[in-house]
Formats: sequence, C-alpha cells, structure tokens
Amino acid sequence: MAVVITRLCRDCVDGACVDQCPVEAIVEHRPADRVSELPNQLFIDPDLCICCNACIPECPWEAILHEEDMPAAFVDDIALNRRAFEKSDEYHVPVTRLHRRVTSEEVEQNREKWLNAAEPADDQAVPLPVA
Ligand code: SF4
Repeated sequence: MAVVITRLCRDCVDGACVDQCPVEAIVEHRPADRVSELPNQLFIDPDLCICCNACIPECPWEAILHEEDMPAAFVDDIALNRRAFEKSDEYHVPVTRLHRRVTSEEVEQNREKWLNAAEPADDQAVPLPVA
C-alpha cells in the first residue's frame, strides 16, 4: 500500500501535510540547478513513507490518496511520486510552507478540473521511467 500526492496538489502546494509527516517523506523537486522539469506540486518518497496516513486529512485540497484508490485520470501520479525515490538527491523537504484556507467549492472545482483534463498541457508532460 502506498500513499501518493496527486495532481490535485499542482500549484496549490499547501504545506500542512509536510508539517505532519513524521519521517520527512513529503518533498519537492529541487535539483541542483533549481530548474525542475516536473509539475509544481509536492511528492511522497515511497521509500521513506511509513503509510501512517497522518498527511491525508491535512491536505486542504484532498490531494493525497492511497494508490489503491487512485482514479484512472490520476494513475500517472503514482510513477511521478516514485521518481522521488529513484532520484532522491534531487528532492528535498520544502523550505517554504504555504497554508491557505479553501472552500469546499474550490476543492470540488479543482478536482473536476483535473478529472476532466483530456490531455496534460505541454508543461506538465513528463517522461517517466518504466516501473
Ligand atoms: Fe508521511 Fe505518513 Fe503521509 Fe507517509 S502517510 S507521507 S509517512 S505523513
């Protein structure tokens, strides 16, 4: 069982989940040149995560899901999170942690936006290694 941060986090990157994680498994992609080719979101390193579930209720965007509960539209996010394990030297615990109150309407709009996204935009297209 794995816990995954989905694309519902993109451009939201609230830090409430980071504060809750007891093993610093929630990370951002911050390579040495500080130029990330990945979407602007947080990830869970599956090698560090102990599946305690503490982060799940903390995300105001309801962006954190168990792998088994992943909607088909978000299934690529599983491999995207796995990259944090495969290239761990490029990932770090976020320095800046935003906290924002959101309404249930905003959460639903964000979910619908990503569920209905037909194709990822070019700047979100990420070549992923085969698992
Ligand atoms: Fe951290 Fe627990 Fe969330 Fe895993 S499930 S990322 S260990 S808070």
